[in-house]
Amino acid sequence: MSEDLGTVNSVTIGVLRERTPGETRVALVPQTVQDLRAQGLDVVMESGCGAGAYFDDAAYALAGARIASSPRDVLTSTDILAKVRAPLPDEIGMLRSGSLVIAFLDPVRDDDALRGLSEAGIAGFSFNAVPRITKAQAMDAMSSMSTIAGYKSVIVAAASLGRIFPMLMTAAGTIAPARVLVIGAGVAGLQALATARRLGAVTAACDARPAVREQIQSVGAVFIDMSVTMEETAGGYAQLLDEEMYRLERDAIRDHVANSDVVISTAQVPGARAPLLIDAAMVQAMRHGSVIVDLASESGGNCELSVPGETVVQGGIIIHAPFNIPASVPTHSSQMYARNVWAVIKHVVRDGSLQLDFDDDILKAACIARPAGAPA
Ligand code: NAD
Repeated sequence: MSEDLGTVNSVTIGVLRERTPGETRVALVPQTVQDLRAQGLDVVMESGCGAGAYFDDAAYALAGARIASSPRDVLTSTDILAKVRAPLPDEIGMLRSGSLVIAFLDPVRDDDALRGLSEAGIAGFSFNAVPRITKAQAMDAMSSMSTIAGYKSVIVAAASLGRIFPMLMTAAGTIAPARVLVIGAGVAGLQALATARRLGAVTAACDARPAVREQIQSVGAVFIDMSVTMEETAGGYAQLLDEEMYRLERDAIRDHVANSDVVISTAQVPGARAPLLIDAAMVQAMRHGSVIVDLASESGGNCELSVPGETVVQGGIIIHAPFNIPASVPTHSSQMYARNVWAVIKHVVRDGSLQLDFDDDILKAACIARPAGAPA
């Protein structure tokens, strides 16, 4: 890497195997280990931690990591623990006071882990809380994972649709292209549009933020004007609308949903339940064999008939509401995630040692666990 961290004075980055069921990602890939080592940082990794993402111990060792046989061996020598999911209580118990954990830490789901970290004098940097500002862009792991999810949502839809995406003119007749509608054109939505278009679909999208019209058009999709608009927050996020606005929005997209072979919904408002944008009647008006992929499933879903975490068939319509899509693309998800982790490490290793300035605007927002006594 070109950026120099100064003379690094034995800062050790630790990586554990993820123990959350279904979690295949790993926090560092061999290339980032090599980059960290080139900057003088030490890396210790639990044996087998990269197996779910198809990286073996030999590749990590070659990149300069020390391979440890147990979590204890990793944790007792770690200054910065890089994880995908929150550490478990026994893992927190083995970490040193003054260390830092970097992971997706959910303020609600991981409440116990966050309290455990603070009580043990450990800071917790959460990718869920990184502000969407230019200087934090390289740390935006939420966007990295949404990019993967947007791509994969189209692959999931294409695999279960009884039709093909591209237009074909053959001796056996002409096949019309699939029509794909994306509701919510943020990071995941734009990537879904681009992917569907590459597969040959005719694409369209709507969003409540008028600012995205040009972005939708730039990936070859038709912008559907719902005549429902909202101001975006300073962080570039949508805001909650009132129920009457959502009703108008459902009316505005009703026919578009009915005429689509695939609907991918990604509408979210941070910190709130996902808005209900596809009601049961809209699903029932779709052609049999059509597919909905509800990416907002983890915050309740955009479709009334979604069952979060599952795939269901309702009146001939296939509705996917998957959790943790990035784990189904573990190699590239881990590669992108590792780059985001590396950006955080570059931000906190200063003058050769771990330095946590909780007044810094990125750390102020993202360190949602702080050692007791640290500035709030
Ligand atoms: P984002 O904030 O970049 O995009 C969400 C978009 O929805 C924004 O453009 C916003 O303006 C739009 N929106 C909000 N309210 C709307 C409304 N009423 N009507 C139309 N559009 C509306 O978020 P993102 O990073 O693209 O993530 C999108 C969703 O995908 C989130 O719910 C996220 O949790 C989910 N996600 C799921 C997985 C998974 O594995 N299931 C993985 C990654 C992301």
